[in-house]
Amino acid sequence: MNVSDTEIVWSILQAAGYDKTDSSAHADVILVMTCAIRDRAETKIWNKLTHYRGLKRSRSQKKNFPPLQIGILGCMAERLKSELVEKERSVDLVAGPDSYRDLPRLLATASLTGQPAINVALSLDETYADIVPVRMSADGVTAYVSIMRGCDNMCTYCIVPFTRGRERSRPIESILAEVGHLSEQGVKEVTLLGQNVNSYRDTTSSDSDPNAQTITAKGFSTVYKPKRGGLRFAHLLDRVASVDPEMRIRFTSPHPKDFPDEVLEVIRSRPNICCSLHLPAQSGNDRVLERMRRGYTRRSYLDLVERVRRVLPSVALSSDFICGFCGETDSEFEDTLSLIRQVGFNTAYLFAYSMREKTTAHRRYQDDVPPEVKQRRLVAMVSTFREEAATLNKSLVGKQQTVLVEGVSLFFVILIFRL
Ligand code: SAH
Ligand code: SF4
Repeated sequence: MNVSDTEIVWSILQAAGYDKTDSSAHADVILVMTCAIRDRAETKIWNKLTHYRGLKRSRSQKKNFPPLQIGILGCMAERLKSELVEKERSVDLVAGPDSYRDLPRLLATASLTGQPAINVALSLDETYADIVPVRMSADGVTAYVSIMRGCDNMCTYCIVPFTRGRERSRPIESILAEVGHLSEQGVKEVTLLGQNVNSYRDTTSSDSDPNAQTITAKGFSTVYKPKRGGLRFAHLLDRVASVDPEMRIRFTSPHPKDFPDEVLEVIRSRPNICCSLHLPAQSGNDRVLERMRRGYTRRSYLDLVERVRRVLPSVALSSDFICGFCGETDSEFEDTLSLIRQVGFNTAYLFAYSMREKTTAHRRYQDDVPPEVKQRRLVAMVSTFREEAATLNKSLVGKQQTVLVEGVSLFFVILIFRL
């Protein structure tokens, strides 16, 4: 998502006359796109800022150069707001995820006044639908297309609804136009993006039935009332897949509740939609899932996996898991390991819980699992996942698959260099 947002920012700045440089030492402006999901993501940014503060100081000693401007964009900017400039005086600009259109003005204001410029207003309808992103990937084989922003789910551990705001979707016609354009440019794979990508619902289209209700997967519930009207994800997916039958379609990051049968049927009927689904589980224990407010039980998650495998027998599954959430006992954690074993994921993103201010968990629960226990559980999740993934991978030995060559891997480059 941050790569995609950076492409949007590039487009806005390019239109305002800014140019790219490939070295921070030559830059007049350094903008840092940030994440706030875990504390570690923010620590990395604070470390970077120490380095940029040094660059700013040495720039100020050079004659005939404008002062270096430093800006913080994205979720950390949204979370910390003016606290950022109070803590780090070298920061000139703070812009949240919905204020990128305002960047040229913010840069000019900071430069004119010498005071930090801040815009962290969240929007109910900003989707940057009309902005044509300036692609970061030079190879042009793959591309991201942002289709929705924000999240209405309010899982108790998660900062996203506070940093990204309410859920809103980009009109279908502008998505189809962008995908069509990418196909003409020779892009071979498009990944549709959103914080809750399969909650997509375009309410602007006249084709939609105003009474049609969003359908969730069986056994899943939401914190909000069922939404009505709008074109749903299944419709979008089908239309996107028909733009260019040779173009691979992926999407991330979905929520398991938004995988009703209609979505699975579209994936089955369209060979160019990659048969690889992300089903973030977070935990394998019902009490933990309840405390997380995920809206499902272990049983309903497993039923979904079974339905997915019935409709898409060759599906590759991936997931996200958090260990050490507030109050998680050893035996509750064992249920997470057993779920990882039972399902068998091809890929997994595994995290130790990081308490975030503002979230329900911060208000209601204690971050009471000691760091060393979180770490030990993380290691256990990684090794359990790897054992299962190795078995799945072995079952593919000797099979033929169509692959997309995205580029030369760094590992390969290092090998060549060493030879
Ligand atoms: N919308 C997606 C996930 C987006 S956030 C979903 O609901 O599945 C990406 C992942 O970060 C989450 O799936 C979760 O595993 C992890 N995550 C979110 N908040 C976290 C926290 N406070 N500590 C550790 N991991 C967290
Ligand atoms: Fe965070 Fe995903 Fe839950 Fe939204 S659905 S609050 S992004 S974990």
